[in-house]
Amino acid sequence: MSILVTGGAGYIGSHTCIELLNAGYEIVVVDNFYNSKKESLNRIAELSGKQFAFYECDIRDAEGMDKIFKNEKIDAVIHFAGLKAVGESCQKPVEYYDNNIGGTLTLCDVMRKNGCKKIVFSSSATVYGSNNISPLKETMQTGGTTNPYGTTKYMIEIILSDLFKSDEEWAISLLRYFNPIGAHKSGRIGEDPNGIPNNLMPFITQVAIGKRECLSVFGDDYDTPDGTGVRDYIHVVDLALGHIKALEKVLGGTGLDIYNLGTGTGYSVLDVVKAFEKASGVKVNYKIVDRRPGDIATCYSDPSKALEELGWKAERGIEEMCEDSWRWQSQNPNGY
Ligand code: NAD
Ligand code: UDP
Repeated sequence: MSILVTGGAGYIGSHTCIELLNAGYEIVVVDNFYNSKKESLNRIAELSGKQFAFYECDIRDAEGMDKIFKNEKIDAVIHFAGLKAVGESCQKPVEYYDNNIGGTLTLCDVMRKNGCKKIVFSSSATVYGSNNISPLKETMQTGGTTNPYGTTKYMIEIILSDLFKSDEEWAISLLRYFNPIGAHKSGRIGEDPNGIPNNLMPFITQVAIGKRECLSVFGDDYDTPDGTGVRDYIHVVDLALGHIKALEKVLGGTGLDIYNLGTGTGYSVLDVVKAFEKASGVKVNYKIVDRRPGDIATCYSDPSKALEELGWKAERGIEEMCEDSWRWQSQNPNGY
């Protein structure tokens, strides 16, 4: 079985490539390195002990993508490629809609022209918007997204759902990720953000390594146990393993399914700081600042559907997530 992984050089993609290779799949990676480095591909090969095909191509390039499908026999696609920074999406909405939605439309068109109708898509908890109360369930209403990034995920879910309605030969899995953190146990691959990190864990690890002075905690007056925002952090390897289960399902038949990939447990910002300090033995300077616009108090999943239907459950706890994030950061202080 040969799986095309778009965005396979990125954070979640690289961890998923390793699990795919470990599970015996052949992979074909496509990436344009907009937000990743070639070195991550070397490390996937090193860690898995396997070689794989790679194409440097933008998924919006229909001709380039068509060539890949003609050269390789692709059985299914795991589609990670996209832009993901919430703040940047407010400054560059056109680029976000173009890359995320345009890229997905081109990909789907090339797929169907080449007779490949199986796709696993990286969606996000952000599609639940701000009106639902956690634990979030797949049956809850989506929409009400608060930034262009989130809206692209919401719109792509609608596009893929309409595609399925028009042609039930498709097999589509929409995976709503909660907050991926952590890294591969080896410390050889991990999250390598460009510039100042937007997300909590890479910011914490950069403070701990001395690249940044102080973590700004965005608000301590939320209606949560300690006043700071609560999220469902999930180890990126658990997330990667969730993709293997979703892939097995799309390979096995047709249909459209939606799954939350989270742990079901919420931790506050200060819980994460404390867990990180314990795991790393390093103190993290922080100060409380104003709330970040668009943030909600609490967001965590009900992950029971993925357990019932895919037999998947996150196994790695917050300590392991922190230990692995720290191993990656301390062994690669400047990323790849
Ligand atoms: P990432 O930026 O590390 O990986 C995305 C990869 O896609 C990068 O390697 C980038 O170079 C590539 N890419 C972007 N646009 C491309 C294009 N047009 N053509 C080819 N390659 C392109 O991000 P990630 O954290 O690994 O996220 C993967 C997916 O999961 C994204 O779609 C993201 O929106 C989604 N997601 C991420 C999170 C998170 O917190 N990391 C949460 C929910 C959903
Ligand atoms: N956060 C913070 N300081 C930072 C980055 C994030 O206090 O520098 C908080 C943020 O307000 C939220 C949580 O950490 O409550 C997770 O934020 P992140 O951006 O990692 O993910 P999100 O849930 O917003 O997608």
